[in-house]
Amino acid sequence: MIRYYSTSGSKDLFNLEDAVLQGLAPDGGLFFPDSLPLLPKNFFDSSYHTLSNEEIAAAVLAPFIKGTSAESDLPDIVSTAFNFPAPVVMLSEHLAVLELFHGPTLAFKDFGARFMAALMEKFTSRNNKETVIIVATSGDTGSAVASGFFNKQGIKVCIVFPRNKVSALQEKQLTTPGGNVTAVEIDGTFDDCQRLVKQAFRDTQLNGTINFSSANSINIGRLLPQMVYYFFAYNQVMQTAQHPEIIVPSGNLGNIFAGMLAREIGLPLGKITAANNANASFAEFLRTGVFTPGETIPTYSNAMDVGNPSNFARIQEMYKNKPEVLRQLVAGTSVTDEETLAAIRDLFSTYNYLADPHCATGYAALSHFRPDEQMVLKIILHTAHPAKFGDVIQKAIGKEPEIPERLAHCLSLPSNKISLTNNYAAFADFLKNHY
Ligand SMILES: *Cc1c(COP(=O)(O)O)cnc(C)c1O
Repeated sequence: MIRYYSTSGSKDLFNLEDAVLQGLAPDGGLFFPDSLPLLPKNFFDSSYHTLSNEEIAAAVLAPFIKGTSAESDLPDIVSTAFNFPAPVVMLSEHLAVLELFHGPTLAFKDFGARFMAALMEKFTSRNNKETVIIVATSGDTGSAVASGFFNKQGIKVCIVFPRNKVSALQEKQLTTPGGNVTAVEIDGTFDDCQRLVKQAFRDTQLNGTINFSSANSINIGRLLPQMVYYFFAYNQVMQTAQHPEIIVPSGNLGNIFAGMLAREIGLPLGKITAANNANASFAEFLRTGVFTPGETIPTYSNAMDVGNPSNFARIQEMYKNKPEVLRQLVAGTSVTDEETLAAIRDLFSTYNYLADPHCATGYAALSHFRPDEQMVLKIILHTAHPAKFGDVIQKAIGKEPEIPERLAHCLSLPSNKISLTNNYAAFADFLKNHY
C-alpha cells in the first residue's frame, strides 16, 4: 500500500484517507507518495488505444488507492468523476491541443475536484463523520469544488470569496448550486478570505465541534487524478506519435507535476514544457537553478497568477536524487500578456481555433524554442473554455466567444450568498451557527 509523507521532512507516514482529509501534512509540508508504481510493460500494447477513459483511469489510479477503504469503489469513483470527454484536437500534423474543459465548470480543475469529491464521499460514508469543506477562492477553484461536491452525502461545502472581485460568471457558478454548498462573500480581498479560512482551521473551539477539511489544489486527492488526462491524450495519439511532447500552462504547478508523475509511472511522454506568464519563478528556476518566489503579478492568464507555486516542493522532492532527469525532461519559459493576445489571434487566424488565454501562453511558449528537426507531436493543454475569459478574447480578436449551454444555464439560476464583513469573529459565528 502506498503511503504519503511530508515534503517538509517529517518521517511520519499517512494513508491516502488521512492525507486527503487533512490536505496538508501536520508539519505544513505537502503529501508525497512513499513509492511509485510502475505500469506493466504491456500496458501500452496494441490494445491500449481501444480502452475507454474509465478503464484507463481505473488502471492508472488503482495502485494509489489499493489497501484503502475505498479500494473496491474505484470503478464507481472514476465513472462519476470522469464522465466527460477530453479530446485531442489536431491543429496541424505536429501540433495539437488537449481540451480539458468539457467538465461542468469548463476548466480542467473539474478533473481533480470531481475525483476528490467522489473519493471523499466514500471515505466519509465509512467513518460516519460529517465533514465541512471550507475553501477560499479567487474564482475558478471555488466553482470546480462547488460543482464537484454538490450533493455529496455527508459533506458540506463553504466557499469563501472576495466581494466584487470574482467575475460575474464565476460568482454565478459559486452562488447557484445551493443544497450542501454555501457561498460566503467577504468584504475584502482574496488574501483576507484565505486568512479567515486558515484561522478557522486553527480555531480549537470550532474544531471541537466541526470536522473541517480543505479541498485546495495542493490536496493529493486533487493531484493524483490529474494524471489521467495525460494517459487519455496518449491513447488518442499513440498510433502516430511515440513520445509526444506536452506544453503545460502553469501556475501553482499541480498540472505539470501530474504530468511528471504520469511519466514516472510509465507513460512514454517526451519533453514537458512549462508555460509561465509574468509569474515566472519556475521558468527562472529551470534557467538559473535558483528558485525565487515573487509577489503575484496580475495577467490575462489569471489562473496562473501565482508568485509562490506550492507544488514546486513536490517537483523538488521527485527529482532530488536525479536532477539530470529534470534538466533533460523539463523546459520552461515566460510569456507576456502581449504575446498571449498575439497567440490567441494567431491560433484563430491560422487554425480557426479559439484558445483561452492560458492555452495561448502554451502556444506562445513554443515560439521561444528552436523548432526541432524530427518534428515531434506537441500537445498543448487547453485548460479552460475561452468563454470563461470573454474580455480577453474580445481584446484579442474583437469579438466575444459564444457561451456554451451549460454555462448559460447557470446564469439564469437564482443566486444565494451570505455577506460578511472582513472580521474573524463574524466568520466564526457564522460557522458555529451554520454547521
Ligand atoms: C488552475 C489553472 C491553471 C494552472 O494550473 P496549475 O496546476 O496551478 O499550474 C491553468 N489554467 C487554468 C484555466 C486554471 O484554472
